[in-house]
Amino acid sequence: MRVAPGARLADVTTFRLGGPCRALVECPDARSLAGAVTALRAAGLPFLLIGGGSNLLVSDEGFAGVVVRLASDAPAFRCDGEEIVAAASAPLDALAAFSVRQALEGLLFASGIPGTVGGAVAGNAGAFGEDVSGRLVSVTVLDPDGQIREEDPSRFRFAYRHSEIPAQGAIVTEVRLRLASAGTGPLAAERDRILALRAAKHPDWRSIPTAGSFFRNVEPTSAAGRRQAAGWFLEQAGVKSMTDGGARVYEKHANIVVKGAPDCTAADVDRLTRRMAAAVKSLFDLTLVPEVRRIGHFPD
Ligand SMILES: Cc1cc2nc3c(=O)[nH]c(=O)nc-3n(C[C@H](O)[C@H](O)[C@H](O)COP(=O)(O)OP(=O)(O)OC[C@H]3O[C@@H](n4cnc5c(N)ncnc54)[C@H](O)[C@@H]3O)c2cc1C
Repeated sequence: MRVAPGARLADVTTFRLGGPCRALVECPDARSLAGAVTALRAAGLPFLLIGGGSNLLVSDEGFAGVVVRLASDAPAFRCDGEEIVAAASAPLDALAAFSVRQALEGLLFASGIPGTVGGAVAGNAGAFGEDVSGRLVSVTVLDPDGQIREEDPSRFRFAYRHSEIPAQGAIVTEVRLRLASAGTGPLAAERDRILALRAAKHPDWRSIPTAGSFFRNVEPTSAAGRRQAAGWFLEQAGVKSMTDGGARVYEKHANIVVKGAPDCTAADVDRLTRRMAAAVKSLFDLTLVPEVRRIGHFPD
């Protein structure tokens, strides 16, 4: 565990934006997390939990409290027949790559999605009509009472890009996923195809800072309907040419905002995304809901 007082959150988010926090507590695994959380609770210090920081917009003023970061580059996975047990701190994309090497099918959709396994489970990350919750056998959490419990996924009421994990104050430490045997060759080819598709449509967050799709896709208007891409409404509303300060809409995807200049601020992104939502509201009378979580103070 490493504690960095006054650390800048820009350094631990893929948007590369955000001011300082009171202290950043870096936990590479469940054991150090449990120690940190126990100490913070004993001291009466509330904290914010983050993983890979790939779904966050942190304000320029930062966050007044302590931030606990559960993330590591270590691919902490093991196979148990057709199931994989994965540490929450591990990168989601590394888990997808591991499943391919183990000739197990069911996590290809996660190829190229940044962030940790824990963050993906908490937000039920997904793509191409599949999501993480569809593969879960159990979720091990550190509960607010300090107990570690291996739980049935139904406790967390998974839905589209949603779970009750954050609302229950639970921290995911490990998950067990059920996959299906398949041939490594076809799986590897499909993973390459998905990574190429992503590279063609999405910015590479390592060189072009972003938090991916900013708004959630739009819920169906009838029981028989399908969810509609927020990007379609944004494109029709003409947002692709929009900029605000150093923030701009990504030229290949109307639902992705990028840090377009080194002096771009979180306030620039905040203003731009509010203008994007207002453009859709004015054209379609539709209220877009952010998928990216705002942290810290932003003007109303
Ligand atoms: C280029 C790009 C492409 C993307 N493409 C996709 C995509 O195709 N599909 C998709 O769904 N998302 C996508 N995203 C968004 C993002 O990568 C996912 O939402 C990711 O799963 C977030 O994980 P994280 O570890 O970064 O979480 P963070 O951003 O660090 O945190 C997000 C939330 O999860 C909570 N959390 C994090 N870890 C835990 C834990 N261990 N236990 C409990 N709660 C936790 C945090 O408290 C916070 O509320 C994309 C982002 C980028 C930058």
